[in-house]
Amino acid sequence: MRQESIKQDNKLQLSTPIRYLKGVGPARAKYLAQLGVNTVGDLLEYYPRDWVFAPAPTKIAKIFPNEVVTILGLIESTDYQSFRRTPIFEAMVSDETGICRIVWFHGEYLQNQLKPGQVLIASGKVSSYKHQLQLTNPKFLVADEKTTEPDKYFSGGVYPACGKLSSAQIKQIITPLLDNLDKLVTEFYDRNFVRKTELIGRKEAFLWIHQPPDEQKLTAAKRRLKYDELFLMQLGLALRRYQMHHLSVAAPMRFNDEIDRRIRKRFPFLLTADQDECISQIAADMEKSEPMNRLLQGDVGSGKTVVALYAALLAVANKKQVAIMAPTEILAGQHFVSIERYLKKSRVRRVLITGGLKGKRRAELLEQVKGGQIDIVIGTVALLQKDVEFNDLGLVIIDEQHKFGVRQRATLRKQTTPHCLVMTATPIPRTLAMTIFGDLDVSVIRHCPAGRGKVTTRWVEPANRPKAYNFIMQRLKTGRQAYFVCPLINRAPSLVTSDPGDDVKAATDAWRNLSEDFSQLDVELLHGQMPFEKKQRIMADFRKGKIDVLVSTIVVEVGVDVPNATIMVIESAQQFGLAQLHQLRGRIARGTEKSYCFLFASCAGPEAKERLEVICRSNDGFEIAERDLRLRGPGELFSTRQHGLPDLKIADIVEDYDLLIMARKNAFDLAESDPMLKQPKHRNIRQALLAKFGDSLGLADIA
Ligand code: ADP
Ligand code: MG
Repeated sequence: MRQESIKQDNKLQLSTPIRYLKGVGPARAKYLAQLGVNTVGDLLEYYPRDWVFAPAPTKIAKIFPNEVVTILGLIESTDYQSFRRTPIFEAMVSDETGICRIVWFHGEYLQNQLKPGQVLIASGKVSSYKHQLQLTNPKFLVADEKTTEPDKYFSGGVYPACGKLSSAQIKQIITPLLDNLDKLVTEFYDRNFVRKTELIGRKEAFLWIHQPPDEQKLTAAKRRLKYDELFLMQLGLALRRYQMHHLSVAAPMRFNDEIDRRIRKRFPFLLTADQDECISQIAADMEKSEPMNRLLQGDVGSGKTVVALYAALLAVANKKQVAIMAPTEILAGQHFVSIERYLKKSRVRRVLITGGLKGKRRAELLEQVKGGQIDIVIGTVALLQKDVEFNDLGLVIIDEQHKFGVRQRATLRKQTTPHCLVMTATPIPRTLAMTIFGDLDVSVIRHCPAGRGKVTTRWVEPANRPKAYNFIMQRLKTGRQAYFVCPLINRAPSLVTSDPGDDVKAATDAWRNLSEDFSQLDVELLHGQMPFEKKQRIMADFRKGKIDVLVSTIVVEVGVDVPNATIMVIESAQQFGLAQLHQLRGRIARGTEKSYCFLFASCAGPEAKERLEVICRSNDGFEIAERDLRLRGPGELFSTRQHGLPDLKIADIVEDYDLLIMARKNAFDLAESDPMLKQPKHRNIRQALLAKFGDSLGLADIA
C-alpha cells in the first residue's frame, strides 16, 4: 500500500524534488517550499514539533474513569463558555455506542478549529463530571475528508503546519518515505564509535523521530539526529579552518624584544594583563607562515584598539601593509582619530579613505597604496574590498562592532592571504563563538584597564522617581551631564489609550517634562529621525558640555564618547533586551569618575524582571551575554543562515551544549586526520556535508 504511493520507487533519493512524490501536486509542492521543504531529504528532516503517544481508539461505551483512551467520533455540538471563572471550550462527541463530553480550559482559540459535523480524534485521561464521562484538555486531531485512516495519522509526530497544509496532511506525505529509509539514509560512523557514544543508528533515528514507538526511543532518536546536525556543522567549520591554515600561505612576521619595545613606546600606559595575553597570542600567530584567523573580543572600552594597533605595528615593522576595516564611515573615522593619537610623530604612513574623498587626491592616495608608500589604510569594509589595491598586504583588521559576517571574511580571503584579525565589541557566549566563529581562534579581553570609573546600576520603582531626580539634580549642578534614553520617539496613538500600567515612555514627552523639571538646565532632544546636521550639532554641543541633559532614543548606542556624562537614565527599561541595556550603559563610565545608571521600569513581567536584576548585579559583558542567550534562546540572537552555516533544525546550541562539545571535538579530530575526507569510510559523511553546505564553505574541492 505505502510502496505504491511513490512513483519510481527505485529512483528515490534524498535530492529528489518533492513534486515527484505521489500526493504532492504543484499546489502542495508550493506550500511545502514555503516551509523550506524542496527535496525528499528536506522532508525527512521536517521533524515533528510534538509527539502524541495515543492508544488505539476505544468505543465510547467502553471507556472508564481514570483510563487514558483515544476516542474517534463526530462533533455533535460545541460551546465556548466565557462566563466561567476559568473559561472553557466544550465539544460533545458521539460514536455509534455513546456520547462523551470534551472540555478544554481557556479554549477560546478552538472556536475557529472545531465545528459540529467534523470527525474528531482525541486522546487523554477520562474523568467523570456530574455523572458524565469527559476528557479534559486532550490532544486531538480533526480528520478532514482527505485524511484516510485518521487514527494512524494521530499517533506519533505532530508537524508544524501552515494555513494550507495540516499536520495530518504533512504526515501522509512523510509516512511512505519511512518504508524507504534503507535506500535514503546512510550510516556515518563505524560500529565502535556508535557503541562508544551510545548513539543509535541513523536509520532508526529517522524512523523513530517520525514514528516513535515510545518516549525512550524518541529521546534516543533526537539525541542521534542532534548529534549529526552539530557534527556536520562543526566539520564544515573544521575543514574551513583547516583549509585556511594549510592551503594558503601568509607572510611570517619577525617578532623580537626590540620590536616589542618600539611598539610599546607608542602607548602612554602599561598594557593590562589581558591585553598582553592577547598580544602574545596574536604575535605567535603572525610569526607563522599560515594566515592568522583570530577573533578579538572585548567590551567597548576594554582596550581592543590598542591590541589591534599593536598587531598593525608589528606588520609595519615587517614592511607589510595593513588594512583596518570598519562597518561604517563614522567608525572608520573614529579608528583613524584614535590611532592618530598613538602615532603622533611616528614615521608610520597612514591614511583614511572615505567615500567623500574624490578626484585627483583620491587617485593619488590609491596610487600610493598600490605603490607601497602607505603602511596603514583605514576605511569601510566596502571601500577597502572594492576600490583599493595593495602592494603587499600583510594584515587585515576587521572591526565588526555589533555585526558579524563570516561570509564577508570569506570573500576577502579569496583574494589574498594576509593575516586576519576580527574585532568585536559584543561579548559572545562560548557556545555562539563555537558556532558563528567556530573556524576562528579566539582572544578575549575580559577586564577593562584599571582606573576606569565604576558604574552603579539601580532599578528605580515609580514611587522613588523624585528621589532619583533629586540625586541626579545634585550631580548635574556640579557640572556632570546625563543621558535620558527612551524606547520611542513619539507615543504611538494606540499606546495612549492602552493600560496606563503598560506605559512606554516616548522621548518627546520625556523631553517636555524634563525641560520643566530641570528648568534651570539645558535639556535637548536627539533622535534618529532628525536631519543629519541637526544630530551632528546636538552631539557636538553635548560633547562640549553645552548641553546638560540629552534626551534620546537609542541613537546614542553607538559611537558616543563623552567622559563627563556620568549619569544615564533608561526609561521603560523593561522594553530593552539585556545586551542592549549593557551596551547603553557602556556609554557612561568613560572617564575616571563614578557613574550611575538608573533603570525606570513601571511594570515588568518575570522575564523583564530577571533582565533588570542581572543588569543591576553584573557589569561583566560575558556573564550578561550568557544570561541573554539563556533567556532569549539562540534563535533570536543569531541565524546560522546569515553566517553561511546551515540552519539547525533540531539541535539547540544552549540546550545541547554537551553534544555540541562532543561533536566539535570529533569533527576537529576528523578534519585533522582526513582533511579532504578522501578515505572510503568517510564517503557518506562527505556526501552529507556537501549536500548541507554546498560550496558555501568553499569545500567544493573535496568533491
Ligand atoms: P576598545 O577599542 O576596546 O573600545 P580602546 O582601545 O579604544 O578600547 O580603549 C579605550 C580607552 O582606554 C582609550 O581611551 C584607551 O586610551 C584606554 N586604554 C586602553 N588600554 C589601556 C591601558 N592598558 N591602560 C590605560 N588606559 C588604556
Ligand atoms: Mg575602540
